[in-house]
Amino acid sequence: MLQVKRVSQITLLHAPALDAIDGIAHAFSTRRAEHPNLTLGPTSSDNPMIPINRSRFLAAAGVPGWPVLKLKQIHSGIVQDMTDTWPSNEPLEGDAAVTAVRGAVLAVQTADCVPILIADRDARVVAAVHAGWRGTAARIAERTVQFMIQKYGVSPADLMAVIGPHNAVCCYEVGDDVRDAIKAPDVFVRKPDWTKPHLDQSRANQKQLLKAGIPENQIVTSSLCTHCRPDLFFSYRREGKHAGRLLSIIGLAP
Ligand SMILES: [Zn+2]
Repeated sequence: MLQVKRVSQITLLHAPALDAIDGIAHAFSTRRAEHPNLTLGPTSSDNPMIPINRSRFLAAAGVPGWPVLKLKQIHSGIVQDMTDTWPSNEPLEGDAAVTAVRGAVLAVQTADCVPILIADRDARVVAAVHAGWRGTAARIAERTVQFMIQKYGVSPADLMAVIGPHNAVCCYEVGDDVRDAIKAPDVFVRKPDWTKPHLDQSRANQKQLLKAGIPENQIVTSSLCTHCRPDLFFSYRREGKHAGRLLSIIGLAP
């Protein structure tokens, strides 16, 4: 379960399971501020409000002015190790970011895809994952945990993972291309009044986190659906290509 916080008129969501770890800062954004359109992306947009909204969100999340380690999301299975905070560097391409750098945040932007935040209980390393259906098919969540284990020597038994708001199984209709790409029949749901199967994105990613070794009781899943809740979230499927973007961030305190 996620909890709702309102700070300086900005509504954000946070996971008590991550709050309980000393030295971790994190938040999932919503669209709500004093107006209902607090978009935090896409970064490629020339909307001049985006950098201002991002600064306000970071401040509300308790990380004012912290640099964001830039990831250029490409719907892949690529995990990037973020070791450099030099601000003029080009963003690294990939869909998961891992870092042990302190005083900076990782961020993934979504509008229906699944954001996943991961931290170890000693606050040594954190990860942010963007898992759309292509990333899910490429096993991005599982690869991220494997990377944290191999590169940073953490034990999966010490990891806490939070699957944030996304287009949930109630709404996420998919075609044969998705079914063929994600070879796991048990993550698709069919109902008589649905014309096509729906993908359970949280179940699909939870299974990967479990397979990578994170205990079930250390995986928190939000049941909030971006498509069902236009009051809280942007949704690409509902609003099309001009939809705003949500930002999910996690970082290690300096
Ligand atoms: Zn829904």
